[in-house]
Formats: sequence, structure tokens, C-alpha cells
Amino acid sequence: MSALGIYCADCGTECERITGREAGAREPDLIDAQVWACTVCPEAWAPCAEDGTPVGLPAGAQTRNARAMLREREVERLVGEALRDVPNGRTIAEERVAAFLAHALRLPASEAAIDLLNLEWCRHAWRVLYGASYAEVTKHAQTYRPRKAA
Ligand SMILES: [Zn+2]
Repeated sequence: MSALGIYCADCGTECERITGREAGAREPDLIDAQVWACTVCPEAWAPCAEDGTPVGLPAGAQTRNARAMLREREVERLVGEALRDVPNGRTIAEERVAAFLAHALRLPASEAAIDLLNLEWCRHAWRVLYGASYAEVTKHAQTYRPRKAA
């Protein structure tokens, strides 16, 4: 996996693995850790998973903030609605919201993960999720069965 090119979500430049400090990360737990960083954009990075692959696609602060807002304000709002009815249903609720979003964005589920989105896709995603209810997400889940990966 790690031999595959990793490209910046913001500018498309191939990224490299450096330390969080070198990438300009200020989060204490990232400073000495490896991150995938864009060689062009300032402070554009993604955390590195234990297997060396990036967690999401590297992106600058503006995009990372947009992703965080999307998760905290919209995804969590929808998941919270689900949990009112099914208190231990977080996993399925997250999967359903992700599938709902991917379908609305017309992206394969593997590309619609919030950590992979660039700023423009975050804006599209915001428009999709803003004002959506979990009832709509459930209806979508009952209408469209996820296709198994080939
Ligand atoms: Zn970049």
C-alpha cells in the first residue's frame, strides 16, 4: 500500500512522509509522529496510520477544518438522531450516513469518506447533509442496498 502515490487533496501534488514538526503540525501528538505531507502546500498533511498509510488524504488547515465541521456539525447531528432511537447503533448509523452522502455526491463510497474530501467536495457534502434528517438517511438505506465490492 505505502508504495502507492499519495496525493494532496488540495493541489494534487505527490506527498511524502515526514515528521509532524516538519509538516507544520502543532498538535502535540503529531509533532514527533510521521505524517504524509504535501511538498507544496503549507501545513498540508494527514496523520500516518500504523501500517504507514495515510489516514485520509493530506490537506491544508482550511480543508481539515471543513472536514471537522462536517463531521462535528452534520454527521454527528445525524448519528445523534439515530442514537436517540437505537442507543448502541453508532456503527450502522455512521455507515448509513456515509452511504447516503456518497450516493448524493455520486462518488464511490471509497472516495466519499470525509477525510478524503477536498474543500470543494466538503462544500457539496455540507449542502447534502445540512437539513437532512436521519429518517431520510434510513429511507435511503432501505432503498439502495450497498453493492459488494468486486
Ligand atoms: Zn498540496
